[in-house]
Amino acid sequence: MNKRTFMKLATVVGASPFFSRVLAWAEEHKLANWSGNLEYATDRLYPAATAEDVRRFVKANEHLKVLGTRHCFNDIANTSSQFLSLRSQDKVLNIDAKARTVTIEAGMSYGQLCPSLDHQGFALHNLASLPHISVAGACTTATHGSGQKNGNLATQVRALELVTASGEVLQLSREKDGDTFRGAVVGLGALGVITQLTLDVQPAFTMQQYVYENLPLSQMKEHFDEIEGSAYSVSLFTDWQKQSLNEVWLKVRTDANPKFVAKPDLFGATLATKNLHPIAEISPENCTEQMGVVGPWYERLPHFRMGFMPSAGKELQSEYFVPRQHAVEAILAIEKLRDIVGPHLLISEIRTIAADDLWMSTAYKRDSVALHFTWKQDWPAVSKVLPQIERELAPFEPRPHWGKLFTMAPAQLRSRYERLGDFIVLANKLDPRGKFRNDFLQRNIFA
Ligand SMILES: Cc1cc2nc3c(=O)[nH]c(=O)nc-3n(C[C@H](O)[C@H](O)[C@H](O)COP(=O)(O)OP(=O)(O)OC[C@H]3O[C@@H](n4cnc5c(N)ncnc54)[C@H](O)[C@@H]3O)c2cc1C
Repeated sequence: MNKRTFMKLATVVGASPFFSRVLAWAEEHKLANWSGNLEYATDRLYPAATAEDVRRFVKANEHLKVLGTRHCFNDIANTSSQFLSLRSQDKVLNIDAKARTVTIEAGMSYGQLCPSLDHQGFALHNLASLPHISVAGACTTATHGSGQKNGNLATQVRALELVTASGEVLQLSREKDGDTFRGAVVGLGALGVITQLTLDVQPAFTMQQYVYENLPLSQMKEHFDEIEGSAYSVSLFTDWQKQSLNEVWLKVRTDANPKFVAKPDLFGATLATKNLHPIAEISPENCTEQMGVVGPWYERLPHFRMGFMPSAGKELQSEYFVPRQHAVEAILAIEKLRDIVGPHLLISEIRTIAADDLWMSTAYKRDSVALHFTWKQDWPAVSKVLPQIERELAPFEPRPHWGKLFTMAPAQLRSRYERLGDFIVLANKLDPRGKFRNDFLQRNIFA
């Protein structure tokens, strides 16, 4: 029910018990993002069952946004016009063993893709902290996992199919379309509807996960590179309140050479003796198996298990990417803010991401360290803390995560993307009338 319909109904039924029940129903059914911090400006959503359906809908409408799995915290996906959903288009179309690729429909989530990919003997190089998210939404917002040699998830994209504003189908590939392809992969939902994606795959592998507790801050300062290099994927979790980082998560490939040996001590941190959640108060039942238990790549790379609630649920998230060479300085800059950050924080996570060449990627031409904040769901308070974080990180030219909350001035954000001008030219070419634009894009990209 949209607000106008709802208001009309409210006028008719007045303040009756029936009205209270309707009110409760409407509250429950408003279309909102995953964490519930953003109620979208419309609940008109057209579910497209086929690629032909997508083309017809795009041609017929002046303005629309595609909605993925709704996991962004800011208004990048929002619109007051209407949503198009491809969620029922969730099939694997082809696995090419020779070319080492998988081609999928764009409504698919990693949780749907990974088990079947593994079953066929293949794996993706990395995953985000949760498998619940759509592949298309994740790639178009430069979603990432961790690992100093691992690019973000958009770097897996070898080809994509887009329905552009005119309803035409555009196929782009890494091999054939050079710069246009590199401009389109992290497209921020601004270039058209992604209907298919072809991703790089590699032979399936198994992994183990180990968690260490209480890494002294002094050791992090001295040995950041060694700690980050100690496993295929490394995440540091901290609430900034002690002179130590709460947890170090190591994700290890069993085919690593030399083989990883979990010593009881890692730079002063202690090997955990039970499974842990990054937020101490939450049950580790929601988390992927730890304690060195061997399992498939897709059940170790994410922190959170499919079928369980990831993270905390009622929360907000922010994240900033700075060049990897400034990692320690940037971490210490935030540590100085511990008294300001602490009261509003559930947990912070520090990860590394390898540089790439995708124009709008947060890791464009920069090996990066990402400083992440999972906040209590209190935007008035968090919105006062973010400018202070952004000020402390300013010397390192931070790029905010495209799907998380930030307060950085648009002009400053734009200055962090040297191919922004080319991206705007590309967007204007594929979508000359701004069919796929919304306030977020207008404000941050096209203003
Ligand atoms: C609990 C939690 C944990 C998270 N962990 C991580 C993490 O580890 N790493 C990380 O980087 N991020 C993380 N995120 C952020 C988030 O997962 C991503 O930004 C997210 O994957 C976006 O995908 P979505 O499908 O939910 O997109 P939505 O929020 O639905 O949409 C985002 C954008 O993608 C566009 N879009 C979606 N599908 C299409 C399509 N088919 N064609 C064109 N445009 C499309 C939308 O129009 C919109 O602009 C996390 C979020 C949550 C809630």
